[in-house]
Amino acid sequence: MPAPSTVPCQYRTGKTLGSGTYAIVKEAIHVRTGEYFACKVINKKLMEGREHMVRNEIAVLKKISSGHTNIVTLRDYFETAHNLYLCFDLCTGGELFDRICAKGNYYEADAASLVRTIMGSVQYIHSCGIVHRDLKPENLLFRTKAEDADIMIADFGLSRVMDENKHALLTEICGTPGYMAPEIFKKTGHGKPVDVWAMGVIAYFLLAGYTPFDRDSQQEEMEAIIAGDYKFEPAEYWAQVSDTARDFVRECLTIDPTNRPTADEALKHKWLSDITPHFVADP
Ligand code: ADP
Ligand code: MG
Repeated sequence: MPAPSTVPCQYRTGKTLGSGTYAIVKEAIHVRTGEYFACKVINKKLMEGREHMVRNEIAVLKKISSGHTNIVTLRDYFETAHNLYLCFDLCTGGELFDRICAKGNYYEADAASLVRTIMGSVQYIHSCGIVHRDLKPENLLFRTKAEDADIMIADFGLSRVMDENKHALLTEICGTPGYMAPEIFKKTGHGKPVDVWAMGVIAYFLLAGYTPFDRDSQQEEMEAIIAGDYKFEPAEYWAQVSDTARDFVRECLTIDPTNRPTADEALKHKWLSDITPHFVADP
């Protein structure tokens, strides 16, 4: 990645692609080259006191961008008096969240294929000493509109570099409640296993079309997560789902993070290691 650009007028911004907690992401065109990017615009005033989060996101992306084909690449960043701008390769295929909503749920073989790809990226991120902490279908983007487009991990805003030598664990409560692991709520310290838990929630969502810990209130949701209280129900949504897939979800949703599989181990689970056809059209 080049040094930070100081000339924001090199880009012209267009339509809004999405928005999250702290940022609006807009399509942007590089005026000279005509190349398209996704530009994350972060309002400095809104981030006041939390500027370190953006610096952290840039530092993490510098460490891992370009190292893996399924992670969004940061190409440029710059700031003005009011905003910070992060320019990424543009993913035109939208969020996994919207595809699940449009489909209802995924065929099991397609779900396994997606989970295997994402878990492979998680394994890479973890091998770099980084924990993502906000894996969810809103942060998983398709590179193109094609049905079999590459899936990309985005949004490293909550990610952290783990200090391997100190065996330090993180304690702040952060993430998106439905995807957060029990140890985050318990404040007993957390690390890489939280990403594997989130992958379990994502796999469940892909297979069923709804998430496992959805409750009427956040309090009930948190209690359900801490107790690992979820079921493969209603039965009609799970009738077509194999025991191998259920076992994969169950393993990722192990309450004790020390007993949860690592990303490495999860990739070796039968559900992901048995090569399944990739988005084969119905005969
Ligand atoms: P936040 O930290 O505010 O959640 P994100 O980085 O998740 O910000 O970006 C918010 C949304 O913008 C994403 O959920 C996605 O819809 C869209 N988006 C982010 N990066 C890209 C990209 N590279 N290409 C296309 N859309 C993107
Ligand atoms: Mg996000």
